[in-house]
Amino acid sequence: MGGRTLERSAVVTPAAGPGGAYKAVIVGTGFSGLGMAIGLKKAGVHDFVILEKAGEVGGTWRENTYPGCACDIMSLLYSFSFEPKSDWSRMFPRQRELLAYIKGIVDKYDLAQHIRFETEVTGAEYDDATDTWQVTVAGAGAAPGEVVRGRALAAGMGPLHQPSIPDLPGLASFQGTTFHSAEWNHDYDLAGKRVAVIGTGASAIQFVPQIAKRVGSLTLFQRTPPWIMPKPDRRVTGVEKALFRRVPGVQRGYRNAIYLLQESFVLGFKNPRLLKAASGIAQAHLKRQVPDPELRAKLTPDYTMGCKRTLVSSDYYPALTRDNVELTTAGIAEVREHSIVARDGTEYPVDAIIFGTGFHVTDAFEHAHIVGRHGLRIQDAWKDGIQAHLGVTVAGFPNLFLLLGPNSGLGHNSMIFIIEAQVRYVLQCLRMLDERGAGRIAVRESVQDRFNRWVQDRSAGAVWVAGGCTSWYLDENGVNRAAWPASTVNYWLRTRRLDPADFQVGGAPAVIPAGTAAAAGTGE
Ligand code: NAP
Repeated sequence: MGGRTLERSAVVTPAAGPGGAYKAVIVGTGFSGLGMAIGLKKAGVHDFVILEKAGEVGGTWRENTYPGCACDIMSLLYSFSFEPKSDWSRMFPRQRELLAYIKGIVDKYDLAQHIRFETEVTGAEYDDATDTWQVTVAGAGAAPGEVVRGRALAAGMGPLHQPSIPDLPGLASFQGTTFHSAEWNHDYDLAGKRVAVIGTGASAIQFVPQIAKRVGSLTLFQRTPPWIMPKPDRRVTGVEKALFRRVPGVQRGYRNAIYLLQESFVLGFKNPRLLKAASGIAQAHLKRQVPDPELRAKLTPDYTMGCKRTLVSSDYYPALTRDNVELTTAGIAEVREHSIVARDGTEYPVDAIIFGTGFHVTDAFEHAHIVGRHGLRIQDAWKDGIQAHLGVTVAGFPNLFLLLGPNSGLGHNSMIFIIEAQVRYVLQCLRMLDERGAGRIAVRESVQDRFNRWVQDRSAGAVWVAGGCTSWYLDENGVNRAAWPASTVNYWLRTRRLDPADFQVGGAPAVIPAGTAAAAGTGE
């Protein structure tokens, strides 16, 4: 959400629901936003709108189109539990197939009628007088200065959404082409070009093997080597698909088995010694695929496995052994008009720089214009770091529901499991509002504080904090702000049944004549 403030002369979208406001405004059409929409429909709520900045649905799987883009969680698990798909073409789903799955969901649940495309949320303010969220929107699908109003606001923008590009000395002077992995420039023909790739995270290790075959030369700037496990990817056979489709329980059993396998990794997060076996597999994988001891040494991590997200790939290491690929670990001193100079003084002439440098996560809300009750800015609420109760609700921000908010990210299992738990939790909050005939529901500050003390206690000594690395899980003070510090079963248990005592519930449902401009933030 950008930094535009509401104006008193704003045009207000005629509301769909009684009281002049939608029952819910959802942001984003990725798995989170669509999961929320389906949850509402199943609960009999149809009075909602989904605001989508792009012209197409899909979230992560629309944005990331880099060559080789795929999910590293297996297909049978990486889907909504209530929408199993028996005919995945591969063990690990690729971007196109995931996008097709998402589009199929939109059709099946008739969600298109709720979506406003090309409508980007630029800010949101809670109106104390009416207990509604006033959401400013911009883009080709929005009227100038338009405000969309909703009793609840469900933010499904995704935690890995804003590309992060390092502020390298001299980058502005570079005369070649640059782009980020999440904004792939498909018009740029890489064939025969001298290409630099910066970063060796989950995205880079997927696209490097693909482009290495096409480029003239590839210089890969690695700061920290990732731990990489073999990827047992292959086509799903016709027999398997038939079994999944026809024999009751096989597909569900397979899915559950993958879930349990992934979940077993969580034991190692608190007890890194348990990860020894997995580290051994990764080390053997490296040894098998990289015969050159010098290259292997550069690729060997010096921190505990699990500290950063553990990656899976069977084609990354072989790509690095190609004659036209060079791995450099010297660090970047500066970028010049047509080259990158490493800290050891080597100058690499390049035509293009591709950033596989990840996303703004713990600092993603620094410039967001989100104002809660009594004019509380999200930056003030989060001056000591981003935090929420169960990653969903934030004290001082009634009726705001973050999907995949702070500390609800996973390094070991499917995020769709968490999304489904969060959607159920939000629906319980909305039901409580209805049952009590109230206008607002907000988590108590003491409850949020207690929960976050638990998160940080659990994180202390865990592999992300004590594993000897930095990652996007941690903020600039080294505090875990992104990773869920326990099992997903623990998360499911905590969100399964909402405790009414955790919340302050008050006000009355707003009655606002549809189409009337309402000034925001007037206070009570
Ligand atoms: P990432 O994991 O954050 O990796 C960013 C890479 O860029 C790291 O190697 C990092 O090095 C490097 N880097 C950052 N700033 C740099 C600088 N100034 N100079 C040199 N190197 C720099 O980002 P990502 O690969 O885009 O992946 C982000 C997340 O997206 C993943 O962790 C994962 O959760 C998700 N993802 C998932 C899949 C999937 O299959 N499910 C696929 C792609 C992405 P350091 O390690 O030293 O910081």
